[in-house]
Amino acid sequence: MITREDIGGVHIKYLYHCPRQLWLYLRGIRPEALSSTVQLGEAVHDTSYTRDSPVDLGAARIDFMDGKRWVHEVKSSARPSPADEAQGRHYCHRLHALGVEAEGAVLHYPATRRTLRHPYTDAAAQQAAADIDSVLAVAAAPISPDRLSRTRCRGCSFTDYCWTE
Ligand code: SF4
Repeated sequence: MITREDIGGVHIKYLYHCPRQLWLYLRGIRPEALSSTVQLGEAVHDTSYTRDSPVDLGAARIDFMDGKRWVHEVKSSARPSPADEAQGRHYCHRLHALGVEAEGAVLHYPATRRTLRHPYTDAAAQQAAADIDSVLAVAAAPISPDRLSRTRCRGCSFTDYCWTE
């Protein structure tokens, strides 16, 4: 069973995208290894910000941190999403737990040359803790959460799994 300390950015991302996706992932089903979307993400990481080194937090791995204690994340998508913000918040939470007082997360979208800055406020800290509780609740669910509506599944790497009758 997953513990609070095991929860990483991918768990938070799936929580926000689809609890069923999180539930499946927690049970070892990972079709996204073959997904072109993931491959694009890896390609963006390989080419966009090569001067900085990832920071390994165990379960979580952030792209890099600057000298002013801001976490930086490079996103392959063109549009910002609540999941992106939640991931950044989660990394700040993890850093604070380790005694590193992260100021917040800076999200970079090279595809659209956008940069968003999310300060790690008290409210953000509370939300990060609540997100961890939510991941644990999904993990403890005995059966998989319902599917999203078909239109919201577009592009999800679990589509074949969920929709092949
Ligand atoms: S295909 Fe749809 S229901 Fe299944 S995990 Fe993906 S988003 Fe969720």
